[in-house]
Amino acid sequence: MRICNRCGKEIAGQTVILSDPVLSGTYCTDCHNRVVSKFLGIDFEHVSFEPVQIKDSYGKKHTFYFETELVPTGRSIEAYERLKVDKGGYKFSILGDFDCDPRVLYSQLLQRIRKALKQKHLEKNDWDKSFSLSDIVRGRIGYDHELDGPLILIDGKSFSLDDFGRMLMTFEGFQFRLEFIDLTEEVK
Ligand SMILES: [Zn+2]
Repeated sequence: MRICNRCGKEIAGQTVILSDPVLSGTYCTDCHNRVVSKFLGIDFEHVSFEPVQIKDSYGKKHTFYFETELVPTGRSIEAYERLKVDKGGYKFSILGDFDCDPRVLYSQLLQRIRKALKQKHLEKNDWDKSFSLSDIVRGRIGYDHELDGPLILIDGKSFSLDDFGRMLMTFEGFQFRLEFIDLTEEVK
């Protein structure tokens, strides 16, 4: 449990830790935005968005929580799931200008999430409950705190590098192209 240094409340969502000598502290995103916008002299309108449930292509419902954050390059909105086991889950982010309309940015993000959740990159093998990869895979590189190593996230599910390696063997002998895309960009 983390307490925000500014409002003194327990932080339910994302925690922002600032190490800048003037602004240093642990903040909830709301307080972080207030502290930073005041420091930068930016008029920051804080808009919060209610959680939204979206069904994925496997028929599973996902609840997305939203957080707006003021970052050095503008305003970002992040959508993420709050899972009991903090491994995996979907995560999306979008970046707009400082003076963009947060509601427009939010609807663009929502559109992107709906589109992404319609995609299906995994096929479940009934006989051993393992997954096979489709011939185009979009995913995210996460971090496994327990194993202190990479976590491969595909369709909101997490895989160790070993699991992912085994899944790759379906394509033994094939070539591939790997491209790294910032979290705020849409993966086409
Ligand atoms: Zn706070």
